[in-house]
Amino acid sequence: MAVDNRKADATEESLHRIFTVPEAPDSTLGRIEKEISENLNAFLQTHIAATEKPLVDIEKDFSSADIPETPSFVSDHTHFLLDKLVAQSVHTSAPSFIGHMTSALPYFLMPLSKIMIGLNQNLVKIETSKAFTPLERQVLGMLHNLIYHESDDFYQQWMHSANHSLGAFCSGGTIANITALWVARNHALRPDGEFRGVAQEGLFKAMKHYGYDDLAVLVSERGHYSLKKAADVLGIGRDSLIAVKTDDHNRIDLQALEQTLAELKAKNIKPFAIVGVAGTTETGNIDPLDQLADIAQAHDCHFHIDAAWGGATLMSHKYRPLLKGIERADSVTIDAHKQLYVPMGAGMVIFKNPALMTAIEHHAEYILRKGSKDLGSHTLEGSRSGMAMLLFASMNIISRPGYEMLINNSIDKAKHFAALIKAHPDFELISEPELCLLTYRYVPADTQRALTLATAEEKESLLNALNDLTKFIQKRQRESGKSFVSRTRLNPVKWDRKITTVFRVVLANPLTTETILEDVLSEQRALAKLSSISLPTIQSLTDTILKREQISLS
Ligand SMILES: *Cc1c(COP(=O)(O)O)cnc(C)c1O
Repeated sequence: MAVDNRKADATEESLHRIFTVPEAPDSTLGRIEKEISENLNAFLQTHIAATEKPLVDIEKDFSSADIPETPSFVSDHTHFLLDKLVAQSVHTSAPSFIGHMTSALPYFLMPLSKIMIGLNQNLVKIETSKAFTPLERQVLGMLHNLIYHESDDFYQQWMHSANHSLGAFCSGGTIANITALWVARNHALRPDGEFRGVAQEGLFKAMKHYGYDDLAVLVSERGHYSLKKAADVLGIGRDSLIAVKTDDHNRIDLQALEQTLAELKAKNIKPFAIVGVAGTTETGNIDPLDQLADIAQAHDCHFHIDAAWGGATLMSHKYRPLLKGIERADSVTIDAHKQLYVPMGAGMVIFKNPALMTAIEHHAEYILRKGSKDLGSHTLEGSRSGMAMLLFASMNIISRPGYEMLINNSIDKAKHFAALIKAHPDFELISEPELCLLTYRYVPADTQRALTLATAEEKESLLNALNDLTKFIQKRQRESGKSFVSRTRLNPVKWDRKITTVFRVVLANPLTTETILEDVLSEQRALAKLSSISLPTIQSLTDTILKREQISLS
């Protein structure tokens, strides 16, 4: 065996070299780059949903807390990454990976993303981003237009205006939601006479000035957990994010909302924002946005819509009407890294009124001077990458009709899958797809019948065992690595609002075929048979119930 005598040194010269543009196309870096592309492509073609190596074994490769005292050659380190990292990662763009909202990416983004990394622009200020700033402002304008359809004059006036902002580009839906509620809070507790506003004087003085006993934000019980984080960081506390119950389609119950608002008023608690969800994370259902807008208006609340996942539906002329009323929202969250198919780290909050973001405006002398067009004066985050470029490129390359096809096909596929589940005697559809998301579970046909005949106690036992079985199947399926669905817990009306564990499927990948969906069901049926505890429990209870029924009939 040839001994490898190469040794990397941390020298002035080697450090200088890693910051120098590699000249020859056949340079070492050029070779490494080619190898990485080939390896990534191989990984993306061969691996399926996940690998079965246990996490504890993988952790062993990442166990040292020492920063290396000697440098490595890029080529050697690349091999480590390909072996230990790439090979052990999750193939989220596999057509059978249908469990989450971030999915396949168009391949053109790989070479284009080099522009972003290569130029390393910082969008916090013009000095470090130049053309990237107008590009990002244009992207925000395009999304504003998608939601609000204002006139050309409106966009000419506001899109590049120094003292205004149509929204903020950020790392994701979480930051977008926090930003929206931050603006809402600061607007509700704005400067007034001697009082210089909550941004300046803080919550304690703001509450004294306005004479409120507390503040609240309302959202349905299907609201995303990021809203709880927002309530926490905004100082109103998680308890002040009030979860309103939903109807049997997972949409906010408007009567319950009105009642909660009346109760808050009686307690001198100011609800400063109502959040509508346009595509809940768990079931994909959309709140009645138009009616929510009426209620928010009547109660002088900021109306925010969390369309992190479902907002991309606006690209579809066919399905856009599902979000009717969104154009009345004061602010809207949309994640580009979900159904707009750009890489992770791309969220946006858009504000209807270009002046609203002044509520959180921030200036600093060496940076973000007043009157500059710096985007950083209206963002929670400081330094930010040129990620907007990838959304800009995707919107140009794919175009609105292209996105419409992606959205429509996804929804149609979800409807097809729902029909498959309903037609199958051993499965139960839990939530009908409104967008491309649905939930279901495995319930053997006999058990479905037994459930209609069971006593309250038997029903309880069956439902509990079914929850365990769903969990068992989902874990086994993930471990076996052929396909992946996620799981969540709902409280369906059909099952008396009892906690029900379900499979959750998001059908965003254009390469997912109907055959794959049929295979997922077959695989789940087969995996159920491997359950040595829950399935036998379910079967014996089912037998008992069905036998009793037979006897009483004969
Ligand atoms: C995904 C999602 C979020 C959070 O977005 P991140 O990009 O994960 O921060 C918020 N709300 C809804 C409805 C979502 O689906």
